[in-house]
Amino acid sequence: MSFLEYAPAPESTSVLHLRSEYGLFIDGEFTEGTGGTFQTISPSTEQSIATISAASDADVDRAVIAARRAYDRVWSKLSGADRGKYLFRIARLVQERARELAVAESLDNGKPIKESRDVDVPLVAAWFFYYAGWADKLDYAGLGANPRALGVAGQVIPWNFPLLMLAWKVAPALAAGNTVVIKPAETTPLTALIFAEILQQAELPAGVVNIVTGAGATGAAIVRHPDVNKVAFTGSTAVGREIAKTIAGSDKRLTLELGGKAANIVFDDAPIDQAIEGIVNGIFFNQGHVCCAGSRLLVQESIHDEVVDRLKSRLQTLRVGDPLDKNTDVGAINSAEQLARIRELSDIGELEGAERWSPDCELPENGFWFAPTIFTNVSTSHRIAREEIFGPVLSVMSFRTPAEAIAKANNTPYGLSAGIWSDKGSRILAVADKLRAGVIWANTFNRFDPASPFGGYQESGYGREGGRHGLGAYLAPAGSSAVVVAPSTSITKEEQR
Ligand code: NAD
Repeated sequence: MSFLEYAPAPESTSVLHLRSEYGLFIDGEFTEGTGGTFQTISPSTEQSIATISAASDADVDRAVIAARRAYDRVWSKLSGADRGKYLFRIARLVQERARELAVAESLDNGKPIKESRDVDVPLVAAWFFYYAGWADKLDYAGLGANPRALGVAGQVIPWNFPLLMLAWKVAPALAAGNTVVIKPAETTPLTALIFAEILQQAELPAGVVNIVTGAGATGAAIVRHPDVNKVAFTGSTAVGREIAKTIAGSDKRLTLELGGKAANIVFDDAPIDQAIEGIVNGIFFNQGHVCCAGSRLLVQESIHDEVVDRLKSRLQTLRVGDPLDKNTDVGAINSAEQLARIRELSDIGELEGAERWSPDCELPENGFWFAPTIFTNVSTSHRIAREEIFGPVLSVMSFRTPAEAIAKANNTPYGLSAGIWSDKGSRILAVADKLRAGVIWANTFNRFDPASPFGGYQESGYGREGGRHGLGAYLAPAGSSAVVVAPSTSITKEEQR
């Protein structure tokens, strides 16, 4: 079979006006950090993009002081309508600078430009527009009249959707009347720093949002800071557990959005062509660096071989390469560490007896790359069926009955998302009802909307982001005590009920 050849179609980087060095964004200004510097590199070329400041404990303290001052003197005194105006302004500026943000995101993260341009950045604007609309309607958020903000929110985010995760955290926090200290991931600080410029353009009062860059130690300093009232974390389950332990017994509120190992269930009456696209989107979107990725494919036995064959043909057409090329489907793996983890777990998959397959694709010489990979003959006890790989690797299993599909889908320590493909609405509803997952897609996958709550069960974390529920994470009912007990340190199934 021959496929169309595409000429290179690289997006221009001329739209970027990057500085060679970035400081920390504290109290409305870029300031030098005192914790040293590090480089942010492009994972597709390994070339340095900019020098970034690492925030020390003292810098984090400065940021929290600025956030507290802004909360006491300005933000808590503004009406909801006025807070909303700032959020609308930020949303419009994100739209105005959309192309620049998309190019910066693809450069720093490695994701294809068509994803950052058509998914990440439009959703960032949508998140700010959505929560801007809530800012003067908090009485209707389900917490009674006059709910109150919590104070200073400390937020730590991962590298897979850098600007979108920032929007998920910052927009509801500000709409609810909190001020923010946020730390982007160390491998993807760039769009957060451009966002700081947007905040300046929007004339957001100084100190309302503070952006501190750095690695885990900077995140830990935010989490344990005594004047932070609310911690919101998105990242790995291991770090989430550590954070829960750190703040247990304090009066901080906590939201954890952690890992996942979602089942994508395809029944024999599913629209197969549509399902194939959904499977590809479920696991190869964003190189599989997606917490809710459909990384376990459960196919009804009677159509297993057909689905696998069609999937393999489809994968032959995926273009892997330059993230800035508009035709690229699968970009670079975000870091050398992540690539090593994907390689290790994939090798273990082979050793455990699963059958490994990848399409013929030439990978670029420099940078971090991993070909889309499918494992068949996978059993539920294999590590590739249990552990989050967080890469473009799909584990395929089969089932005979809906009950078996449900049992296999729920056989995971996680519970973030799931997908169901079937022609029958009644079957979709019956199966969805029994899946222990926070988000369930039917005949689609990896769709996000700011009005829809998102979050997990079990080791996928607790709390919800998005929608009215996402506001609840940044508000307390009027008159309630300032002391809100943090959840216990172990994330158990019981807690989710
Ligand atoms: P990670 O936990 O290593 O890092 C996440 C963030 O936490 C980074 O900013 C990091 O610097 C910081 N951090 C590291 N150690 C810390 C500590 N001790 N205290 C405070 N902060 C600390 O995760 P990662 O590798 O960056 O991201 C991948 C993980 O994130 C995956 O497991 C994925 O499933 C999860 N994720 C979940 C969601 C969700 O919404 N549930 C979304 C995206 C990613």
